[in-house]
Amino acid sequence: MIRLERAALTYPGPPPVPALRPTNLTVHRGEYVSIVGPSGSGKSTLLNILGLLDRPTEGKFLLDGVDTGALGDRERTALRGLRIGFVFQAFHLLARRTAVENVALAQLYRATPAQQRRHDAREALERVGLAHRLNTEPARLSGGERQRVAIARALAAQPALLLCDEPTGNLDSANAATVLQLLDDLWHAGMTVLVITHDPTVADQAPRRIIIRDGVVTG
Ligand code: ADP
Ligand code: MG
Repeated sequence: MIRLERAALTYPGPPPVPALRPTNLTVHRGEYVSIVGPSGSGKSTLLNILGLLDRPTEGKFLLDGVDTGALGDRERTALRGLRIGFVFQAFHLLARRTAVENVALAQLYRATPAQQRRHDAREALERVGLAHRLNTEPARLSGGERQRVAIARALAAQPALLLCDEPTGNLDSANAATVLQLLDDLWHAGMTVLVITHDPTVADQAPRRIIIRDGVVTG
């Protein structure tokens, strides 16, 4: 599903920052992979490349066999919307919107009728165990519930790949545990999951671990 061929990214600066050194990486469909490394080691840079948010400045990124370097920005955006769901440390929910509105509004870019978007949103929220919170605003949800809304938002377009950047970074251990359990369930249901973390509990849950240090990927 994911293939990096000597992919590297140097931020132009000045001074230039070689955030990701030339990296070869293959992740197969259905894998669950954690990416660990200290702050500033290049984890988000790697995830942003895999999520088609950034282009490598060297080498190639192939997604499902498609050389993404050959795609224009519009094609990359379309591919991202179809294939990839994102979960970040901060939940990025709209404060005065209910859970179902938050999930449905994120699908506005899709050429889907409003009623279908709402239906998909409800279904995604049910999938993350929030059927009873559809009409609740974020302020009245726990941290773990908020992150589950964010995960539902990522799932609503039925992506094949879920990219998570420190998904439990803002959560206490009890809420983190519910989010981790959910990621595990999604993986068992067939999702390909990549999780950036510097929390060993999170990293230990994934069968495969990639370590990154000073932009160098190992494992
Ligand atoms: P991590 O997610 O592991 O904390 P990042 O991938 O965010 O690390 O950053 C890797 C390195 O690249 C760091 O040295 C960081 O300061 C630098 N960096 C990140 N984003 C930019 C940017 N937009 N411009 C310049 N340097 C950046
Ligand atoms: Mg980061």
